[in-house]
Amino acid sequence: MRIVLLGAPGSGKGTQSQRLVERLGIPQISTGDLLRAAVARGTELGRAAKEAMDGGRLVDDALVLDMIRERLGEPDARRGFILDGFPRNLAQAHALERLLATLHKPLDAVVQLEVDYGELARRIAGRRTCADCGRVFNLLTSPPAANETCPRSGTPHRLIQRPDDNEATVAERLRVYDEKTRPLIDFYRARGLLKVINAEGDVEEVTRRLAQALAALTPLKRRRAKAARPVRPAKRRKPAAKHSRKAKPALRRPPAARRGQHGRAGRGSRGSRGSRR
Ligand SMILES: [Zn+2]
Repeated sequence: MRIVLLGAPGSGKGTQSQRLVERLGIPQISTGDLLRAAVARGTELGRAAKEAMDGGRLVDDALVLDMIRERLGEPDARRGFILDGFPRNLAQAHALERLLATLHKPLDAVVQLEVDYGELARRIAGRRTCADCGRVFNLLTSPPAANETCPRSGTPHRLIQRPDDNEATVAERLRVYDEKTRPLIDFYRARGLLKVINAEGDVEEVTRRLAQALAALTPLKRRRAKAARPVRPAKRRKPAAKHSRKAKPALRRPPAARRGQHGRAGRGSRGSRGSRR
């Protein structure tokens, strides 16, 4: 299954990606991790990326796409991937679409994790990363388990706060998200790929919603796989053309009950003063 997770900073993308990795057995591809790894290994791409970052510039989209292409060629990505942190804007979304088309690996779904902005700010403040293994935790929503040890160091995770996770920069990051990344929602909706889930509340519960949204995709595949198996010479349909078209996941979409109404409505009802500072 090939998935993009969309969500504002603090929406739980990283945490939910990690959980999906365990459930689906496909790798999480985080462009941030790819960049850091390439720089650490000193590959050609890594050197180019480091040059850009050292110069205080953003890493070129073409460079990031090359890294993604390289990563998708690895064996563990054959069954699918979860893309986290990319694309972040429309130009990147178009570029990714072209790349995946040339690889014959189009996306199966794009899941938007929807969280109220006040909640986002609160979550970001609680975010910590292990300096050794890079795993992301949240003191509020997903702290390390008691006695949990780091696979790298063998001691408890060494939790640090990323410099851009402080309150001062959060508002700016959310603004940038609204301006650059939010338009992707319409982009993917137009392609019939978008699934929106309410990502507030308990981490487990969110994972369950996420799994449910994605499960709506798999039964189709499984059914098709079964139908393709020559159990008995059923006279269903001839194994038609070479490229049997993908059944549209949109057909199985559950009734769009109370989508999109979460969060915003209740805003301001409780202490809107605290958030201003
Ligand atoms: Zn660790």
